[in-house]
Amino acid sequence: MIDGIYSRLKNEQVRRAVEIQSAIRMEMKRFLHERGFVEIPPVIISPLTDPLRHETYEAHINYYGHRYSLTKSMIFHKQLALLSLNKIFSFSPNIRLEPLERRETGRHLAEFTQLDLEIRDATREDVMSLVEDMLVHILSSLRKKYDVEAGVPKKPFERITFAEVYRRYGEDFETLLSKEKKEPFWIIDMPIHSREFYDYEYKPGVLRDMDLIYPMGFGEAASGGEREHQYERIVDRIRRGGYHLEDFSIYLEFAKRGLPSSAGIGIGIERLTRYVCSLDSVEDATLFPKVIGEFSI
Ligand code: AMP
Ligand code: MG
Repeated sequence: MIDGIYSRLKNEQVRRAVEIQSAIRMEMKRFLHERGFVEIPPVIISPLTDPLRHETYEAHINYYGHRYSLTKSMIFHKQLALLSLNKIFSFSPNIRLEPLERRETGRHLAEFTQLDLEIRDATREDVMSLVEDMLVHILSSLRKKYDVEAGVPKKPFERITFAEVYRRYGEDFETLLSKEKKEPFWIIDMPIHSREFYDYEYKPGVLRDMDLIYPMGFGEAASGGEREHQYERIVDRIRRGGYHLEDFSIYLEFAKRGLPSSAGIGIGIERLTRYVCSLDSVEDATLFPKVIGEFSI
């Protein structure tokens, strides 16, 4: 057990990936500061976190009689932060105790970091264009210093609707398309049942949201969208999502007082590093991976 962890710490491929990841983070910060974003510190424990559309084991802490969750994503805090600032980002550690069947995807850890950003009064298109510019910036900067595997993508990335990819490729559309494509691309307009209640429903059953997908089989890079921000609409979406309103009472208290309209996205840092360095697994994009189902330090 310790032997494996020890040898990872001396592995050259991992060392290089971690160095490149450090450069990626620096370029992200540089880019976002130039665009007027303010970095906010991550929230690690809170009574509010993302319910997520897929199952993970719960991670709670009881502290003086209050129950906190370890952050699964900062979505709600991003909306609240926009009461104070117009454009925000955070390098947000997420704890998602993923089930064992996700171990072999090459894309899942139980602890990872998202670059999570949100913009007040923005559209989905604003966010997609920003992320495209940011990836072009990161990859061109990296290529000045490192002989990285991923090329500089060309703007604008292709946009394909969920309905179209589903019709052409069926259930396994993401894997099939990701293997087929040579450049990153967007899947837009997810159906309501595939996402959480905070993505904006712009026509019945269809959300104004998006996933960024890496080419060459690397799969999902990022998820984002325009957000629901009106109290009545949020209540309706929570109900239709099959949840109890009581489970979101704190969030609803804020929503009742008024949330700004916004759009944003979360980009997995380990997945981006994996793509840039063409690694087999996100486990090799960090020194201390929390490997699903295995003892990790
Ligand atoms: P989500 O909102 O669930 O799509 O998560 C946002 C982004 O975080 C995803 O697009 C991935 O890049 C990354 N991500 C999500 N879950 C994991 C995980 N278990 N391990 C590593 N990265 C993840
Ligand atoms: Mg996603």
